[in-house]
Amino acid sequence: MVGSGVIGMTSAFRLARAGWRVTLFDPSPGTGATWAAAGMIAPSAEISPGEEENYRLQLGALAAWRKISSDLYDVTGTPLDLYETGTLLVGYDPSDRRLIGQFEVVARSYGAAPRRVAREECEEMFDGVSAGIREGLYLAGDAWVDPDQVVALLTRANELHGVNVVRRQVLTASAQDDRVEVTTAEGSWQGDAGILATGARALPRGVAEKVANVVRPVRGMTVRVQGLDRSTRPMLRAYVRGRAFYMVSRPGGYCVLGASSEERQDLLVEMGELQRLLRDALDVVPSLESAAIVETRLGLRPASKDLAPFFETIDGRWAWSSGHYRHGVTLAPLAANEALNFVQSLQ
Ligand SMILES: Cc1cc2nc3c(=O)[nH]c(=O)nc-3n(C[C@H](O)[C@H](O)[C@H](O)COP(=O)(O)OP(=O)(O)OC[C@H]3O[C@@H](n4cnc5c(N)ncnc54)[C@H](O)[C@@H]3O)c2cc1C
Repeated sequence: MVGSGVIGMTSAFRLARAGWRVTLFDPSPGTGATWAAAGMIAPSAEISPGEEENYRLQLGALAAWRKISSDLYDVTGTPLDLYETGTLLVGYDPSDRRLIGQFEVVARSYGAAPRRVAREECEEMFDGVSAGIREGLYLAGDAWVDPDQVVALLTRANELHGVNVVRRQVLTASAQDDRVEVTTAEGSWQGDAGILATGARALPRGVAEKVANVVRPVRGMTVRVQGLDRSTRPMLRAYVRGRAFYMVSRPGGYCVLGASSEERQDLLVEMGELQRLLRDALDVVPSLESAAIVETRLGLRPASKDLAPFFETIDGRWAWSSGHYRHGVTLAPLAANEALNFVQSLQ
């Protein structure tokens, strides 16, 4: 397994549980896009024109995460916490509210059932939200996990399953006869099959020249603040002056605010990008005024040409699992199933 983000770790876990001996290569596990992610498993809130197939795929994600949670409990004694809160989607100004209307049309055409909610009827759903925002759409069935907990539990579970972690970058990957081989600066390793889960990063030499898919990095920033506990309320999504904003509030008052979206791959916090995100946050949730900024996190979403995930086989014994874009946390258990099916198909 080359790459230990949420896709590589979940796939390694699935394979190790099925009895395979797994080696995970990554110079810094869990520090890619997975580190920056808010952890939403939100098929309904993520509905977007032209992405109906992706929406249908995501509908199976929550059940797959429930299974991973119980498997993690079996192995580590700790379940993964899944918060099935749904999403409240609101618009900041009249043109943002028109965007909500357009969203509703697309959502209904996909078969989703957004419910219009008014502040007067569901006051608690609007806790902390600007008093000027009087209505919204409630999307049932959306949930969230804490990606830091996902990484911590998978790391522990993989260790208990004997997954070998090599903290090295893979430089080359190749296949010959019935074996695959990788090289790092330290030496070479062989195995029966290989999965490339390198997110938005370039593939190792030897396979990079052979693939049909391409991924491009779409940088995103989340800001983490402490000071508002909306964890028993729906996740919050908003259009603000045409931009998308969200807030995932965890028990204890830690909130993830997101997210910017830029076609670039440096990981520097740009002042304008940060200012826009904070301004949008304060306009929609004025109660964040006194929250403390804990940190910013940046990551590169791996986007394919059609914004859909793919699982591409290379030379028979390699597979590339990427293109998960805004949905890698959501789709990780499904990518893990593909990894297992692929490896088993080679027997
Ligand atoms: C700001 C932001 C918010 C997001 N929020 C959500 C969300 O709420 N819900 C959701 O479902 N998704 C979300 N996403 C998307 C999600 O984070 C990604 O789709 C997902 O993390 C991709 O996982 P990955 O394992 O493919 O990549 P990564 O997490 O980037 O991991 C790739 C790993 O591969 C390693 N690697 C790369 N090259 C090599 C090599 N040659 N050798 C060894 N190791 C290598 C890297 O070190 C890295 O650890 C968000 C993304 C961002 C940026």
